[in-house]
Amino acid sequence: MEDNPCIICVAITGSVPRKEDNPNIPISVDEQIESTHEAFEAGASIVHCHVRNEDQSVSSDPILFAKLQEGIEKHCSGMVIQFSTGGRSGKGKERGGMLPISPDMASLTVGSNNFPTRVYENSPELIDWLAKEMVKYGVQPEIEAFDLSHIFQAAKMYNEGKLKGNPYIQFVMGVKNAMPVDRDVFEYYIKTVNRILPSANWCAAGIGKHQKTINQWCIELGGHTRTGMEDNIRLDKENLAPSNASLVNLTSEICGMYGRSVATWEQTREILNIPLKN
Ligand SMILES: [Zn+2]
Repeated sequence: MEDNPCIICVAITGSVPRKEDNPNIPISVDEQIESTHEAFEAGASIVHCHVRNEDQSVSSDPILFAKLQEGIEKHCSGMVIQFSTGGRSGKGKERGGMLPISPDMASLTVGSNNFPTRVYENSPELIDWLAKEMVKYGVQPEIEAFDLSHIFQAAKMYNEGKLKGNPYIQFVMGVKNAMPVDRDVFEYYIKTVNRILPSANWCAAGIGKHQKTINQWCIELGGHTRTGMEDNIRLDKENLAPSNASLVNLTSEICGMYGRSVATWEQTREILNIPLKN
């Protein structure tokens, strides 16, 4: 059987968890670089990044993003760097203010839905602007699908030329008040991506205690997957995750159980068609 390496993305920080929730969560840029380095050595080949202020509050400061990018490039040479343009990090166009520093990838949500305590608002105007900026600065999007309609919207944007590059679709499941972790829907997502965006690769992220379940489903069904403390701060029921690398190790073990290798950064760049910037 031909090997189908599994890409592991590590979402190191996010905008929600704080040191009070898990003291091991990396907040400062230095902590983030160190945590990314450990996760990279454990097998993660994409890092999904948010930045925080010193008081742990969320930020969308391009200077912090640039420092983080520089450190990761230096210490994790080859790793794919993905910045978040998610709605918790800033308002309106602030969310894309770091795209001019040309990360390899950036997350892009192409529709709205509910979050635990608020509306996750992504207006068509803002989505089109973020897409345009990504095309302009050569940033490959990772589409965050919180809902089936987001997959259709992404396909439409690729067909219209508003989005460029190899489509990479991430299903996000288990966010409270949004799509739950549901196996039938998960399989239908895959079927729909294969039908309307056949050139796309797919991955998925599960939130909280569902992280491991989603990792398993992705690996079993031939996709790629995401782990990390942004989505889940626990190693298991009893223990907080000691590091992002510990969660990457867990995911890598699941790959082994299903006979899949973990993609190296070279394989990840080849699969997603993201050449190394010089
Ligand atoms: Zn994120």
